[in-house]
Amino acid sequence: MRILVTNDDGVFAPGLLALAKAMRELGEVSIVAPEQNWSASGHVKTMHRPLRVKEVLIQDGSKALASDGAPSDCVALALLGLVEQPIDLVVSGINPNANIGHDVTYSGTVTAAMEAVITGNVPAMAVSMDGPDNHGEPLDFSSAARIAKQVAKSILLRGLPKGVFLNVNVPYLPLDQIKGYRVTRQGLRVYRDSLDKRTDPRGRPYYWIGGEAPTAIPEEGTDYGAVSNGYVSITPLQLDLTAWNALSELQEWRWDE
Ligand code: MN
Repeated sequence: MRILVTNDDGVFAPGLLALAKAMRELGEVSIVAPEQNWSASGHVKTMHRPLRVKEVLIQDGSKALASDGAPSDCVALALLGLVEQPIDLVVSGINPNANIGHDVTYSGTVTAAMEAVITGNVPAMAVSMDGPDNHGEPLDFSSAARIAKQVAKSILLRGLPKGVFLNVNVPYLPLDQIKGYRVTRQGLRVYRDSLDKRTDPRGRPYYWIGGEAPTAIPEEGTDYGAVSNGYVSITPLQLDLTAWNALSELQEWRWDE
């Protein structure tokens, strides 16, 4: 089995190291990841400049390819031939913060997995952990890495339905305190963004989209409902964003009145 590991926090992030180590227990790992942090970069296809790739060594001494492209570019590069051997599974993460609800379209972690479906129709998963907001201390990725290995094993065994990839979120708990697995639907984030207008030294305005960290609704059956109750959340996602329950109503509108 050949597994491609990527992330959105950059090739030297500790979450990628933990994920690559766990995946090496399942097969041969190739790492193609961005050279810098692309968190909340969304789904990117770089078209108007060339992409550069260089070989680097990550903390455990293993080789990785670092690109100046986005996470989704890294997956496209790998699947289109930068990694010569066929890839059986694309794994993105481990992101230090959960990717739930509307996060999935902002998330570089999740959109990297999306790209695997588009470019290669290769099974893919994004792995995030619901880590603490305070990043002062080194985070412990060991539980999320164990869980990632288990989920990857299941995907390699069974495959995924065509066009479907998994968004996995793991509670930030010791492994023996994680209660189990829940297959969930996408829940609801509550963003608390606010516009902060400031003035630069030359008197011109500039803006920060700031505000407090987002919260989420811990509704039963959802991604955040599971994670906030101590369960691993596995949400099957697809790229078809059609609002199916609005389709028939809108088809009855007279669009030319
Ligand atoms: Mn990130």
